[in-house]
Amino acid sequence: MFCTNCGKEIDNNAAICIHCGVATNNTTHSVNNSGMQHHDQPKCRKCGYIGEFKREKMFRTIDWAIGLATFWFGFGIIYFIIIAIIRYDEKNRKTICPHCGEVGSAMDVY
Ligand SMILES: [Zn+2]
Ligand SMILES: [Zn+2]
Repeated sequence: MFCTNCGKEIDNNAAICIHCGVATNNTTHSVNNSGMQHHDQPKCRKCGYIGEFKREKMFRTIDWAIGLATFWFGFGIIYFIIIAIIRYDEKNRKTICPHCGEVGSAMDVY
C-alpha cells in the first residue's frame, strides 16, 4: 500500500510509514473490533431495541414494603443488608428497556 501522508510505498502491515513516520490506516482492526461489540449488545425481546439497558434500582418498591413491614421485628434491617449485597452488582438486577420500559426483556445479558 502507499502512505497517505507522503505517498511512498510501504509494507501492507506497517502501522507507521517507514519514510515519514505517520501512522497508517492499519488501525482499522480496532475499529472493526468495537463494531463487533456493538452487535453483542442486548436486544429487547418486546420492542427490538438494541443497546444499553437501564437496570432496576437496588431497592424496588416491593423491597421497601417488605423491609419496612418487618423492620420492627428485627428482620427488616437484615433483609435490606441481604438485598444490598446481592443487588450491589448491576448484573443481579433486572434490565429495564429504555425504549418500551419492559422489565427483564433484554436478551443476551446475564
Ligand atoms: Zn509516509
Ligand atoms: Zn423494549
